[in-house]
Amino acid sequence: MTGVSTKGIHGADHLARVPDVVPPINISATFRYDDDPDTWVKAEDGGKPLLDNYLYSRVSHPNSEQVEAIVEQITGYPAVVYSGGMPAYNAALTYYDPKTIAIGHAYHGCRGLANLWTQKFGTKQISIDDEFGGNIGQGDLVHLESPVNPWGTAIDIQAYADRAHKVGAIVLVDATFAPPPIQDPFQHGADIVLHSATKYFGGHSDLLAGLLLVKDAETKNKLVKERVLLGTNIGSLEAAFLLRSLRTFDLRVERQWRSATAIAQHLNDNIDKLSKLTKVYHSSLQTEPFVAKQLVNGHSPVLSIEVTDEATAKSIPGKLKYFIHAVSLGGVESSVHWRVLSDKAIAPNVIRISVGVENVDDLIADLDQALT
Ligand SMILES: *Cc1c(COP(=O)(O)O)cnc(C)c1O
Repeated sequence: MTGVSTKGIHGADHLARVPDVVPPINISATFRYDDDPDTWVKAEDGGKPLLDNYLYSRVSHPNSEQVEAIVEQITGYPAVVYSGGMPAYNAALTYYDPKTIAIGHAYHGCRGLANLWTQKFGTKQISIDDEFGGNIGQGDLVHLESPVNPWGTAIDIQAYADRAHKVGAIVLVDATFAPPPIQDPFQHGADIVLHSATKYFGGHSDLLAGLLLVKDAETKNKLVKERVLLGTNIGSLEAAFLLRSLRTFDLRVERQWRSATAIAQHLNDNIDKLSKLTKVYHSSLQTEPFVAKQLVNGHSPVLSIEVTDEATAKSIPGKLKYFIHAVSLGGVESSVHWRVLSDKAIAPNVIRISVGVENVDDLIADLDQALT
């Protein structure tokens, strides 16, 4: 079987339209019809298939289709690309139109969008840890995030999926924190998988993109049809940047999860010596048996730490040389985030660490000096 790194570089070779080694950025918003009127199909007659027939770039364009082709090879599932993780999540909500969403710890933006649906459309919300009985059923949505933001720890997807499927609910897994090939949520009961491609697929903190992975081509086609109406296809420039990113996707992600794991182990082993550090959270520190079954090819490239108190937490970013204090994660540059700035549900002594591709010994030395 072809490896992920090979697919990242060659997965769209068959879609090349010119001999350029790097696919050109197609900035055209619209595409010329064929000269032969016999090839024209009226929209009222169903039009032409939406993909592979460039019409208007809100529908699709060469760069977005190249991205989808590569992601489909890397993941093994039909993929739909969006202009961000949030538009991808909104597309999933629109597609399933759940009357109830079960949601637990999750990215604050997704919780915010679920709240907006509650406010605007009356969508009910329960916790993923509530009993699933009369409160959730056929066609409703169970929203899981694993590994979960900001901790980088895993939850048992299969256990939640079994409970969800028993009542006929759909299981969405936000897998942003463990990009492929680290885990495959479909192997553990997911019905649809969300990635903020702004993070690891993009990897350079220079684009916004989102992905939905589904189990069959028919669902993909329906999502593409709705994407046309929602107007949330990825832009051409972002898609071209994302194609650049996919060429090093496997290299970056492997370096990032290995370094994150080394950092988590080091910090955890040295809690007694690092006077400001009180706790380390990372999937590699979890001992429950489901973790090894789920995270088959690595660990989260994100971890979180707790320090002695809020004032200390606020002082850490300024002491670090290589970790930029900024929101977002997944870039080649390491970053930290005092998480309560974005998410009031997180205690003020928590700092999230996104590990980049710098030399891991440099990163460890930097954290050591800041935490003593
Ligand atoms: C960033 C993020 C999102 C939202 O994605 P955008 O690309 O910023 O729209 C959703 N889920 C998780 C876990 C994220 O980290």
